[in-house]
Amino acid sequence: MTHPALASFEGRSGALLIGGIPVDRLAERVGSTPFFAYDRALLTRRVQLLRDTLPAGVNISYAVKANPMPAVVQHLSGLVDAFDVASGLELRTALDTPMPADLVSFAGPGKTDAELAQAIAAGATIELESETEAERVVATGGRLGIRPRVAIRVNPDFSVKGSGMRLGGGPQQFGIDSERVPALLKELAHADLDFLGFHVFAGSQNLRAESICQAQRQTVELMLRLADESPLPIRYLNLGGGFGIPYFAKDEPLNLATVGANLRELIEGSIRPKLPDARIIVELGRYIVGECGVYVTRVVDRKESRGKTFLVVDGGLHHQLAASGNFGQVIRRNYPLAIGNRWADQPGEQVTVVGCLCTPLDLLGDNVTLPRAEVGDLVVLFQAGAYGLTASPTAFLSHPLPAEVLV
Ligand SMILES: *Cc1c(COP(=O)(O)O)cnc(C)c1O
Repeated sequence: MTHPALASFEGRSGALLIGGIPVDRLAERVGSTPFFAYDRALLTRRVQLLRDTLPAGVNISYAVKANPMPAVVQHLSGLVDAFDVASGLELRTALDTPMPADLVSFAGPGKTDAELAQAIAAGATIELESETEAERVVATGGRLGIRPRVAIRVNPDFSVKGSGMRLGGGPQQFGIDSERVPALLKELAHADLDFLGFHVFAGSQNLRAESICQAQRQTVELMLRLADESPLPIRYLNLGGGFGIPYFAKDEPLNLATVGANLRELIEGSIRPKLPDARIIVELGRYIVGECGVYVTRVVDRKESRGKTFLVVDGGLHHQLAASGNFGQVIRRNYPLAIGNRWADQPGEQVTVVGCLCTPLDLLGDNVTLPRAEVGDLVVLFQAGAYGLTASPTAFLSHPLPAEVLV
């Protein structure tokens, strides 16, 4: 039980507790396995940790694509300051909550005219990803007779070291190249738009605080440089996020205090003297939800093959692709897992946990040491709160969809 992911979970009478409920009892309550369960108290605690560690002037925006389950988004609407969405359906999910529409931003390439119209009609903020998208927003706003709220997503002239996924620097489908932004600002000054400011999101899944601090320094410097050239007032600075979570045994959790101290310095030393009233946003997905969720599967078969023991479970990569190592990993490593109804048992054997799909890719735990498990026991995969169900090929092999619960 040394993995940092398991530290926030407790057990009672030998069973892992999720939302205060022993996992075997929760499985009965859900009525079927496999299922995803998200822990409400852990979500609340996570946002509180961010509030306690980041400077008071920073707004926290939740990137809905990390986990768009409506109950989760609803719960977070009372905790965070804003939502970021990436599709028309995510926009509707966000608008179903009490979150005011003007605190919802819509980012991402390839927004359709229908999605732009939805966002404009709602009064959400559109993060412009290209000059041509800006033209379509102006045209759609004209057609609807509504002044669109927009910000420019800037593709920075730097990239972030240590990101699991890079979304900025060099040529990108994301954002408008920083050197082209001044010309666009001149155009926007004459357009019928409510222009708010800038957005930079340069990378994701970063565990190195120093890299995040460096990216934030460069982002602020770039934004203030662009603000100097802007004929329009700058009221909105979305600094991105990229805060990572530890997925693997050797991952060190992000040092959030270092990031918070750096942000405080940037806000007080650089931003406030120039832009005293601009709204400053940090946008986070997996850091908020990733560690608050588990994927619960049941052992269907226990088999020996040439000296190796396999636990075959009723779930698999069709629900939790990332745990199989096929979602952006170069070298496959195990996500943390446990036998949830034998939480207090000592590890007793080395097994390989596989899913129920007919492909060797459906590997959930390769040579893991676990308490001895039997058919009917519950294998729980951790770090499943973000990019789980909605980032998995659910139609592959035509198994039923798993349930999702917030407890
Ligand atoms: C995906 C995305 C995020 C969230 O990324 P995480 O790694 O989950 O924190 C934030 N902002 C934008 C624009 C995104 O596309």
